[in-house]
Amino acid sequence: MSIPVIQGDTGDWEMVIGLEVHAQVISRSKLFSGASTVFGAAPNSQVSLVDAALPGMLPVINRHAVEQAVRTGLGLMAEINLKSRFDRKNYFYADLPQGYQISQYEHPIVGKGEIILDLPGGAMRTVGITRLHLEQDAGKSLHDQHPTQTFVDLNRSGVALMEIVSEPDLRGPEDAAAYLTKLRSILRYLGTCDGNMEEGSMRCDVNVSVRRVGDTAFGTRCEIKNVNSIRHVRQAIEYEARRQIEILEGGGSIEQETRLWDPGRSLTRSMRSKEEAHDYRYFPDPDLLPLELTDAEVEAVRATLPELPDEKKLRFINHYGLPAYDAGVLVAERARADFYEAVARGRDAKLAANWVITELFGALNKTGKDVTESPVSADQLGGLIDLITDDTISGRIAKDVFAEMLETGKDAAAIVEEKGLRQVTDTGAIEAIVDQVLAKNADKVAEYRGGKEKLFGFFVGQTMKATQGKANPGVVNQILKSKLNG
Ligand code: ADP
Ligand code: MG
Repeated sequence: MSIPVIQGDTGDWEMVIGLEVHAQVISRSKLFSGASTVFGAAPNSQVSLVDAALPGMLPVINRHAVEQAVRTGLGLMAEINLKSRFDRKNYFYADLPQGYQISQYEHPIVGKGEIILDLPGGAMRTVGITRLHLEQDAGKSLHDQHPTQTFVDLNRSGVALMEIVSEPDLRGPEDAAAYLTKLRSILRYLGTCDGNMEEGSMRCDVNVSVRRVGDTAFGTRCEIKNVNSIRHVRQAIEYEARRQIEILEGGGSIEQETRLWDPGRSLTRSMRSKEEAHDYRYFPDPDLLPLELTDAEVEAVRATLPELPDEKKLRFINHYGLPAYDAGVLVAERARADFYEAVARGRDAKLAANWVITELFGALNKTGKDVTESPVSADQLGGLIDLITDDTISGRIAKDVFAEMLETGKDAAAIVEEKGLRQVTDTGAIEAIVDQVLAKNADKVAEYRGGKEKLFGFFVGQTMKATQGKANPGVVNQILKSKLNG
């Protein structure tokens, strides 16, 4: 497995990356209040007295949010800490009415775990998860609503987040993208976060450092805050690694600092240095008891876990005999995997995989549609495959039928009947056409018999053309061979 290397002026460099992902917990109500979490509501319409931090209001932990964190921890093959604690992380900001965020600092609910990356070419690699903890989201400052004023929307204030921290095990933009893709896939399978980066329900802080190839110690890192798409994560890493290499090769040193990704200018810029770093004055939140779980509670959550992408992939490889790459593509989303299984049931599994991945996903990609919006249902695609398998139509004609199915939503059999696309397997009929083709091309027949064997394809082509593609290609080949060589 190759680790990407950046060539500098004075030698080769390697990137070291660790990601902190904030994933919004799927839960109808907030972490410590009963207010709704629905996205896109009118500003400040989903704010309880707790979220607005009115004096004397007390937080009450949301049991479902805790279960979601445990569920995620189990999905990340992580230790679940039966005892965890909430702390206050103190800082002042206009959209943080409490003046502190309730988070978990020393004692997170989930400890060490791991994620298996699916890398291009079918390679796999394990990346360590350091921890997962629960915390509240802040409100949102709106700077673009008024020329001289900033407004605050507290709908998001108090929404439950899981902060998922990776070990510095990633070695380049490709790894980071694979990590985020896999994490999102697992969260969606688990139903604990919708992974929607555009709506901000999954946000990412990217820690980047560089070191000379061969060095074992890590370099000083910079943290790039709140990058909101996988594409931007890749770009920010590329840019930041080069920036650091340039400084180091120029004899300078890297200051640990927090930076921002500026997508408009495609660069990172300094936000605050370590000296300006917040002193959060963490202390245990006196309004909340330590969080204690029992083994039985954890086991109850474990009992409801779905089959996760890695297990599903393994099953697809073993049960259906699919190549690892195909299995990976199919299991990336649960809906895709389910669609495939519905098509494959009782049919040739590899043929089904080819049709689902190449033809269906190819067509969906072109129109930007999700598999759940497919104009051709799994049953319909299965019906088309049946027509190929029982020799009603050839694979070639099937592609035309499929194109028509995508457009009209009709069943394959109906299209085949309507358009008279039934494959001709009648040997006598094909023989007659072959005779015509050979008679019409007597010169080429002579050339073929004289040794120009490449012409065989020409005869196949002519015969298929004469039957509008409907002749069974196997039968055509057979007849041509016996007539030409016999
Ligand atoms: P903080 O709480 O200050 O953000 P952490 O120790 O929790 O610091 O680390 C945050 C992230 O930085 C983790 O994802 C970790 O993997 C990553 N990280 C730590 N050291 C390095 C390094 N030298 N280069 C790149 N990433 C690093
Ligand atoms: Mg951090």
